[in-house]
Amino acid sequence: MSRESPPACECPPEAGAATCEVPRASPDGPCPACGKPGKPVDLLTVKAMLAVPLTELRATRYRFCKTPECPMVYYGVDADHPIGETALRERVHQKHPEDDDVFVCYCFRHTPATIRAEVESTGRSTVVEAITAGIQAGRCACEVRNPQGSCCLGNVRAVVENRKRKGVIP
Ligand SMILES: [Zn+2]
Repeated sequence: MSRESPPACECPPEAGAATCEVPRASPDGPCPACGKPGKPVDLLTVKAMLAVPLTELRATRYRFCKTPECPMVYYGVDADHPIGETALRERVHQKHPEDDDVFVCYCFRHTPATIRAEVESTGRSTVVEAITAGIQAGRCACEVRNPQGSCCLGNVRAVVENRKRKGVIP
């Protein structure tokens, strides 16, 4: 399997930037539920996220569907096998981008609500710096804690920008 080198992202190398949020051309099929292309996800991530017995797993590669209105989170590339959020141990940020209580950073446990609370009490957000420092200290485990299986920083930046745009935080 030949693989192009991934495009650069802004995450520190310790975050596993090779699997970060920058979209790539997809050689495999789209999500069987919503038809949008999914992102390859390591089997270890699916194993870590499933709340059902791992005997459910198929011998296939899995992809992650980030479409907010699609109920499926993972699907098998060859075997179809869509897996919905109810079969998982975590609620998935991408499926609830406006929900203040769903984690956006699963390693250091930040939600839109905790991000807003910091801004309300201190006047600014240090969440990106805090996560970056945690990554550099070797304390992140995105591949087994984050449903997308990769670094959350892109999502965290998007949450901060989104809440600023809406005037929720200054
Ligand atoms: Zn989908």
